[in-house]
Amino acid sequence: MKSLLVRFFLFSLVIAACSIAVTAWLASQATTGAIRQEQGDALRGDAEIYDRLLGIAARHRTWAEAKSEVDGLAREYGRRLALTDRGGKTLLDTGTAGSPPLPITPKVSIDALNVDSVLKPGATSKIDPRAVGPFRLTDEEFAKMRTVADRLLNCTQGKFEIVESPNRRLRVSTMPPGTESAWPECPSGEELYTVTHTESVAYEDLYNLFNGCMARLPGLYAVKPLNGRPVPLDWEVLTVRYSDPPVVECMESARREQLRPFVAEYAHLFITEPTGGQPQAIDLSTTGTNRIILVALGILALAGFASWVTATQLVRPIRALTAATKRTAEGDRTARVDGGAGEIGELAKSFNAMSEKLAETERQRQAMVSDVAHELRTPLGNITGWLEATQDGLAEPDPHLIDMLLEESLLLQRLVDDLHDLAQADAGTLRLHPEPIALDDVVDQVVNAQQNREILLRSETTPVHLSADPVRLRQALGNLVANAVRYTPPGGEVVVKLFQWQDRAILEVVDTGTGIAPEDVPHVFDRFWRADKSRSRRTGGSGLGLAITRHLVEAHGGAVSVTSRLGEGSTFRISLPLA
Ligand code: ADP
Repeated sequence: MKSLLVRFFLFSLVIAACSIAVTAWLASQATTGAIRQEQGDALRGDAEIYDRLLGIAARHRTWAEAKSEVDGLAREYGRRLALTDRGGKTLLDTGTAGSPPLPITPKVSIDALNVDSVLKPGATSKIDPRAVGPFRLTDEEFAKMRTVADRLLNCTQGKFEIVESPNRRLRVSTMPPGTESAWPECPSGEELYTVTHTESVAYEDLYNLFNGCMARLPGLYAVKPLNGRPVPLDWEVLTVRYSDPPVVECMESARREQLRPFVAEYAHLFITEPTGGQPQAIDLSTTGTNRIILVALGILALAGFASWVTATQLVRPIRALTAATKRTAEGDRTARVDGGAGEIGELAKSFNAMSEKLAETERQRQAMVSDVAHELRTPLGNITGWLEATQDGLAEPDPHLIDMLLEESLLLQRLVDDLHDLAQADAGTLRLHPEPIALDDVVDQVVNAQQNREILLRSETTPVHLSADPVRLRQALGNLVANAVRYTPPGGEVVVKLFQWQDRAILEVVDTGTGIAPEDVPHVFDRFWRADKSRSRRTGGSGLGLAITRHLVEAHGGAVSVTSRLGEGSTFRISLPLA
């Protein structure tokens, strides 16, 4: 897994996947939360409306009687409430005349004697406890009970609470029967535990109905009359809990029969928005999740494609560069890369520059080796030839022969010295030993050393002082003067001038010699370059003189140049900084 392409691709894929996953998770969390809350609110609202309507049904004989209460409820919850009978006839509608028709299916049915155990979980009976019918105490009975309860409360200094049952009976909530003797100085409060006349009549009726039902059962159950017994503490105990199902059923049906005329009729309930539309329940099915997954996969594919394309584009020039580097390492100097723009483009450009430089150096090295071989061949060939002739007895080893051999070996010596100087200059190890010198002295020394009978060699100097290596400067100027003398025919003139111009010392070697053709001028400072290729070393030099001069002058921070006219003469000029 070293490939930059694959790593880049996988990396961006992982990042894309992570960010998509996190975003999707957050979004779905937030949405689910919001939906749950919304739905919870709606359900709670509906359940409350249902419960309140049951209470209203329990307390009214007809829905028409309950109209104002239902209107209030509809206003309170901002809903339109409509009740119809089984046949669909409207019993009550809080909507206005312009309200749209009701939905086809009702929300739920309302019957105080048959409570929906889903909407009201935990109820012990299907009969709403608020349906009290004939059990409701008369005002007189209630007032009497109230007085007894208040007296008891005052006397016992509120040690317990008085609770009102749905039929207005008051009972002691925290004190079981019999414990009233704990306060002997207080009234017994016995009235709170005795059935009133109203209740007694209602119980009588109820038990008649109940017994009637029981009688229809196959003679298993005996029922005791309730007369004179204390009323049950809890109104709901009327449900006859823990009995056999047929007994429970008999009691329920007896109660229903007794209460039926006192409660509002069975009705279908429609709950809608005030405008008529049905409150929209939100669908929490898996389609949402599936869509999120699909979209996420789509984005992932897109991100993958994009990063693959980017990575490929990024890697292509790098691969081209690698291939080119390999070819270069194997010796191919023609390898070039097209890197385009950007950082990699820059890299490609530097590679191309490096490759070109390498090719140039290689070319120079090869030319140098072949030139050196060529230059060495002639004097060595001469020496070998003379020595073989002597060995074969064809030539005498006389002083003349020795002179000739010596001259050839001196030529070789000079060539090797020149090569050494150049190699040092190339390697940057050419050492200068600068010291304060009078440049006119250097000129005089060179001119004196090169005096020649056939040519007029003279100098025109002004005193110039600077810091330089006198030996190397003599060598540089000596090469120019030697060339001038060599390429000037007898009777000609060579003048060496020295003067100061601005902050530079100028040395000029002016001759009246053969001159240099304009097309040759740019080459005179090249190594082993000669205008006359066929010229022998005896008339010409090694072809390295001007190259060495240029190196020496440049090592002093100066420059060398030439102006020449073919057939009229040349002027070589060295300019050196004074500082
Ligand atoms: P060489 O040892 O052949 O003189 P140089 O490097 O000194 O080598 O000079 C290179 C060539 O430049 C010479 O071969 C010659 O053709 C030309 N040249 C140099 N100096 C002069 C000059 N003063 N007049 C004419 N030609 C010159």
